[in-house]
Amino acid sequence: MSEPMPRFRPVLDRFAPYQPGKPPTVTTGKAYKLSSNESPFGPLPSVLKVIGEVAAEANRYPDPSAVELTDAIAQRFGVPAAHIAVGCGSVGLVQQLLEAVVDPGAEVLYAWRSFEAYPYLSDLAGATSVRVPLSDYRHDLAAMAEAITASTRLIFVCTPNNPTGTVTHAGELTSFLDLVPDDCLVVLDEAYVQYVRDPDVPDGIEVYRDRPNVAVLRTFSKAYGLAGLRVGFLIGHEPVAAAARKTLLTFAVNSIAQAAAVASLAAEDELFDRVEKVVAERDRVRHELVRMGWSVPPTEANFVWLPLGADTADFAQACDRAGVSIRPYAGEGARISVAEQAANDLVLEVAAAYPRRH
Ligand SMILES: *Cc1c(COP(=O)(O)O)cnc(C)c1O
Repeated sequence: MSEPMPRFRPVLDRFAPYQPGKPPTVTTGKAYKLSSNESPFGPLPSVLKVIGEVAAEANRYPDPSAVELTDAIAQRFGVPAAHIAVGCGSVGLVQQLLEAVVDPGAEVLYAWRSFEAYPYLSDLAGATSVRVPLSDYRHDLAAMAEAITASTRLIFVCTPNNPTGTVTHAGELTSFLDLVPDDCLVVLDEAYVQYVRDPDVPDGIEVYRDRPNVAVLRTFSKAYGLAGLRVGFLIGHEPVAAAARKTLLTFAVNSIAQAAAVASLAAEDELFDRVEKVVAERDRVRHELVRMGWSVPPTEANFVWLPLGADTADFAQACDRAGVSIRPYAGEGARISVAEQAANDLVLEVAAAYPRRH
């Protein structure tokens, strides 16, 4: 007989919890974590200084409205403060938005494969996920438009797409947005926007301006290098931002995160020099892999996608043995973050020695 226990929602049995990127298992020699698309660089001295100062006041609650950070974002991006909502990472904002729009029967539409937080948080919110397969590793926006129903409340467009690195171009995005009903929210998840160099990729902050049903998600976790502090933001018209502010767990964005984000906006020049290095390495890594005979989708993010199919787990083990942890998606492929040159070189060595090309 099983032990009596509290009753939980059946939905909890239907999904695996979010799988974080693993650290390398090899501990001898230099090991690299290329499994979570983090910045390989630690916080800048100017940001660390602020973190230390604010840590000394950790006995106080943070500003629940994040006024200083909101004003800094408004200034930086040329949008009204009323159009901004902050969150505990942009994943937090995904959850806030789901909480704001999902009633029984609601559908959430997104491409697949894409960011793993979409299915897991949609399930948790009680929404029905509608997934439209990628085509050639890219969002198939025509098919996504056809999948919209009267129940579609939220659409995620992840560009560059995690984990494939592919982007959505201006023309196809405009055609798509023109087909979305006004009462359905479209979220452009631009976590990797600072790494984009393709001139045909629109800036979501321009796209949202004359579209009340479009919002943009940005994060301090990737190019700004603050993944451990958990802060992201939304830019959208006032009703959208207001809804996201209402569903934020009070104090979810802590005081250190708020101050470090403000300091990072002030230090963008230095941070974007680092981004430039990663972009150069990304282009080098993809170029080398293609030269070796691998097929790698064009990437505009700080990672590459290797469509390894059945060899995915085996390849990930080979990387692990070389001291590099990557992100395998069993049976599909592997996402490999681009980091410092030495780490990327190890990946290229494994790929060069790997007996099967894809
Ligand atoms: C990494 C990532 C984020 C950022 O998540 P945070 O919660 O801000 O750390 C958001 N969207 C996508 C697609 C990502 O890959």
